[in-house]
Amino acid sequence: MRKCFVLAALLVPPAFAQQVGQPLPPWTPGTLDIHQINTGRGNAGLLIFPDGTSMLLDAGAGGRVPPRGTVPKPDASRTPGEWIARYARHMLAHDAAHGTLAIDYAYLTHFHDDHMGSMVGVGRQIPFHTMIDRGSPSYNYPAPLDNAMVKTYKAFLETQQKENGLKVERLRPGRNDQIVLLREPAKYPNFEIRNIAANGDIWTGVGINTREQFPLLKDLPPAEYPDENMCSLAIRISYGKFDYFSGGDRPGRASDGAPLWNDMETPVAKAVGPVDAAILNHHGNRNSQNVFYVGTLRPRVFIIPVWSLDHPVTMFWTGCFRRRSIRVRAMVLPPI
Ligand SMILES: [Zn+2]
Repeated sequence: MRKCFVLAALLVPPAFAQQVGQPLPPWTPGTLDIHQINTGRGNAGLLIFPDGTSMLLDAGAGGRVPPRGTVPKPDASRTPGEWIARYARHMLAHDAAHGTLAIDYAYLTHFHDDHMGSMVGVGRQIPFHTMIDRGSPSYNYPAPLDNAMVKTYKAFLETQQKENGLKVERLRPGRNDQIVLLREPAKYPNFEIRNIAANGDIWTGVGINTREQFPLLKDLPPAEYPDENMCSLAIRISYGKFDYFSGGDRPGRASDGAPLWNDMETPVAKAVGPVDAAILNHHGNRNSQNVFYVGTLRPRVFIIPVWSLDHPVTMFWTGCFRRRSIRVRAMVLPPI
């Protein structure tokens, strides 16, 4: 009996540093921290790279209200932007000790409220050094981006450029030298952020070569232009053997009668290959996570950014459980 007890104790994995209900441990040098911040109103991620370089990956404030929409998280006492900034301020406290608190990179997958609705709000509370989106500098692809939310965003960028030296850039697909370690890059040569896609321009997986997935706009009637979700940015973050994929709200299942180029997951999957973790494209919507994409990336963890009761759709779960090699786990971080 005693021998059995010892064996059982040895087989129990060591306690995780993250315990539900307990404060998250602070970032430590050499660690890649990926925080998915759940406000119930869209996507928001805070990433801290191994040398302390920081990145905000979307800052949403959209979605629906209950009963179809999810309840605000942690609660409705603050706006999503206030929660996100509060979270970032807490997790970047180590950085503030060395000077003014700031976020090195703010990254916006696409111009929808559940991804950008809090970007300006967070930026007003915590300055950004570099803003990366799909529109800069013209904001006119595939058609002029001029709704009220984008106008507010562009006005914010202009002010920040003049007053605080903010740099604004469009993501350059194929490159691995646009989002980089800013403090001790030589210390972590096995860290890389590869730009995968923007506006239908997709990395081929070879060198820095890309291929245009969309037809030329002159060959399309405006009603068939690529939509905002199809234009989403995508990146792969690699640190040693670990890989993480973020693809925005890209669709992967062309609707009936739609052209095959509407599938923006298959060409991305060919370039990205297997990863360890990925955030669900389009919140697990019915037009995303096609079989080839899921089978190629086959992450051990899918993160589900939920703001509606139909996230993710049943089709996604059914597809995953049919593939025994895929394990799916929802990660919802506790409030701090
Ligand atoms: Zn979305």
